[in-house]
Amino acid sequence: MARRVDVDETLSPVRIPASVLHELCNHALETHPEECCGLLIGNGAERYLRLVRCRNIMTALHQKDPDTYPRDGRAAFYMSEHDYLKALDEAEAAGQRVTAVYHSHVGAGAYLSEMDLEYAEQPLFPFPDADQIVVPIYERNVQGIAVFRRRAGEYAPGHRVQPIDP
Ligand SMILES: [Zn+2]
Repeated sequence: MARRVDVDETLSPVRIPASVLHELCNHALETHPEECCGLLIGNGAERYLRLVRCRNIMTALHQKDPDTYPRDGRAAFYMSEHDYLKALDEAEAAGQRVTAVYHSHVGAGAYLSEMDLEYAEQPLFPFPDADQIVVPIYERNVQGIAVFRRRAGEYAPGHRVQPIDP
């Protein structure tokens, strides 16, 4: 059976600045019907301080090599290495760090799929300690964003999110 990590509705929600949630929604809407992806950057005071968009290059990979990449950007994401390395450099220069990787699910709920888990568990995955945030989008509506924390290399069941107003 395929592995998958779901949301646990009994867990307390994770607080995320309203402006960051707004940007997550906008990114998912703009790339629809393809998945969006990117990083959340934080510091000691605020874990989810700001968002950096990265390009999802899965469609380009799929077109070049459909055997290795059987899905396109509507059903999967592959973060542009150029984009995330640049974001990582800028964060480190500012004394900040990458705290989460996010992507959207088009027409599907907030869970980590077998593919999401494989991607995040590969030895070269650049953010082994980062949380995962999934942004479900149905038609033109984003609903049910969830945060999956990583503990001892494994993703724990997901939390819903709650906006922090400035
Ligand atoms: Zn996914």
